[in-house]
Amino acid sequence: MTEYTKEYVSNLFYETVDAIIIVDAQNDSYHTVKQEGLFEKFLDADGSYKNLVEKLWFHFSDKSDKIADDYHVFIPMIGQFKGKYVDRIKLNFEDEIHLIQISIYPIDDMSCKYMFILDELDNSEYLREFLTDRKLDAIQNTYLFSMYVDLIKDVSYSINITELSSNPMNYTVAYTSWRMMIVKMIWPEDQNLFLERTDPGYLKKNLLPGRTSSFDCQMKNLNGVFIWVKLIFSRTDTTNEDDFRFVFMVQDIHENSIKLFETLKKYEDLASKDALTSVFNHGRIETEISNAIEVFKTKGIHITLMMLDIDYFKRVNDKFGHSVGDIVLKQFAAFVVDFLASYDIKIGRWGGEEFVCVCYGLEFEEAKQIAEQLRQKISENDFEQIGSLTCSIGLTEVKPGDNAKGVFDRVDRAMYEAKTNGRNRVTIQ
Ligand code: GH3
Ligand code: MG
Ligand code: MG
Repeated sequence: MTEYTKEYVSNLFYETVDAIIIVDAQNDSYHTVKQEGLFEKFLDADGSYKNLVEKLWFHFSDKSDKIADDYHVFIPMIGQFKGKYVDRIKLNFEDEIHLIQISIYPIDDMSCKYMFILDELDNSEYLREFLTDRKLDAIQNTYLFSMYVDLIKDVSYSINITELSSNPMNYTVAYTSWRMMIVKMIWPEDQNLFLERTDPGYLKKNLLPGRTSSFDCQMKNLNGVFIWVKLIFSRTDTTNEDDFRFVFMVQDIHENSIKLFETLKKYEDLASKDALTSVFNHGRIETEISNAIEVFKTKGIHITLMMLDIDYFKRVNDKFGHSVGDIVLKQFAAFVVDFLASYDIKIGRWGGEEFVCVCYGLEFEEAKQIAEQLRQKISENDFEQIGSLTCSIGLTEVKPGDNAKGVFDRVDRAMYEAKTNGRNRVTIQ
């Protein structure tokens, strides 16, 4: 076996491996020494190391598919290695999945130069296993990334970033500076919450040993799109107060959140609706009056309240029966909704045959005209089964110093005056 000299072995090695590159992490460059097979196309003779890292670990073989800028905070973590390092990754190149083994040897620790040996593994059996393995790990697939944090030493290690190797990276970063990088990926309105909940002081006070806590917010995914995520903090169980280690995970909950929000919205709408007429119910329109007064106070937007009461409605019931009365109420509400549809006006059923409308952003004169037109159109309408119908309308404007009860009493008085003055008219107060 003496013929296997150092030189012979070196040559053999050089011949056998698929690609060898020299990386200069500090200067963000790589130089290809050897490239064969898949790597003939995949590697350039010289190139940017960061791009290579993106392509290798983020699997973006298509050059146009860039990862979101903010995710570059992870790239230095992958880009620097302490000691030898081996990883297997799947690479989607030209619509085919390749299994790649990467071996990394530091050449010069100080200047961050490494030798990368890249080999395509030719074992379909293993590839299948490798892929199923990942698939089975469904929970892990929903995690965008996870970090291991030691608060006392103020260090964090990346454990896993979507589609990255599940091996811990040989890279550490100060937790305190890491959270300041991550915050840029959070939806601007959620950033304060993120900073509060990831604050070392907050965590020390609120995260007991062995406990897990979480909160939801929106965060950019790899493609730079904001999605709903759950941020999970799980502290190691310990009896030592000076031991504060936890795993921080970011879980993709986007699809479920969107469904949940839709359902919640549906429930909210259901709880706000009058069952017979589908306009706001009493409670909801009452809230609307208070909200509108707030809007008037804070934004100075004109608010007008309108109250409609059907004239002699009792006679409809007496003559045609209660169920026809119900149909008329529905028609009446639908008519009002339709007539006011182009305005910013919220409509609710106060009770019985009385309706309240909250009008936003209308000069009082304009509101009066609209009320008058509505009254007239109602009186001209042919209501199914009963024919014609009239209503009396009260109208009042929100003024400085008003509260909800005061405005309501005024509009109620206005409507009552319309009744006593002969009905089928608009009266203002
Ligand atoms: P006015 O012109 O003074 O308003 O006369 P009115 O008959 O409309 O007023 P009153 O308050 O005396 O009667 C209201 C009637 O509305 C009494 C009630 O039978 C009827 N009503 C209230 N709620 C409903 C309902 O949900 N369905 C039906 N069909 N009728 C209702
Ligand atoms: Mg009434
Ligand atoms: Mg009435």
